[in-house]
Amino acid sequence: MRSDYSARVSVGLAIVGGTFDPVHFGHLRSALEAQKRLGVSEVRLIPSFRPPHRGKPGATTAQRLAMLELATRDVDCLRVDNREIQRQGLSYTVDTLASIRAEIGSNLPLSLVIGEDAYALLHTWHNWPGLIELAHLVILKRPAGHLVPAEKVAVWAEHKRVSNPECLGRCAAGLVINLTLTQFEISATKIRELIEKGEAVDYLLPESVIDYIHQHGLYQKPSKQGRESLP
Ligand code: ATP
Repeated sequence: MRSDYSARVSVGLAIVGGTFDPVHFGHLRSALEAQKRLGVSEVRLIPSFRPPHRGKPGATTAQRLAMLELATRDVDCLRVDNREIQRQGLSYTVDTLASIRAEIGSNLPLSLVIGEDAYALLHTWHNWPGLIELAHLVILKRPAGHLVPAEKVAVWAEHKRVSNPECLGRCAAGLVINLTLTQFEISATKIRELIEKGEAVDYLLPESVIDYIHQHGLYQKPSKQGRESLP
């Protein structure tokens, strides 16, 4: 049975981008809480095809997508959007926002949800000032210590900042808000490391995703992967 978390007035949509290698409860719980706090009808999880700032993911794009589909299949307000995978090439968020904006028109509020860790690196993103012309920026508190943005980003954000999430429903783009939701100190890196060491990852990500990882032998030591693929 799908849970209906979206039975409320829609004030736009929100997106969460990431590598999702693999998706975990940190991503999922914050997407769900962001949906409620922002009052948007849906949150789209958008896996990147080729993240500009990191190496090749451990799982294939098809596998990352499959894990996201499994993780979100019972929650109506969480949708997987595969446009970056279809577009291929480097996955620039500003291009993704532009393509969503082209679909939804210029009036519907659109929010880009990122963690403080991503915000601290915003100045390295392609055409980062252009993001705010297309969407609101929602920055989620992360447990990892002192994450501050580059000074030019902090100055840029200063006059766009609001404290009430309802403000984001009153215009299409252009505002910045910091939100504190439930914080989980989970990362995909940690999950991959645990699996490589042969340790359990229960309660860090959905069981359906754990089953998929085991079925496909993902994130194991290269030597073990090699052995398993022998007849
Ligand atoms: P990796 O460890 O491989 O770098 P990750 O777990 O940090 O991956 P990504 O798939 O790179 O996650 O997703 C990036 C987005 O998800 C960023 O906006 C990041 O802030 C957010 N995010 C990652 N982990 C969490 C978490 N535990 N809680 C909330 N948001 C998270």
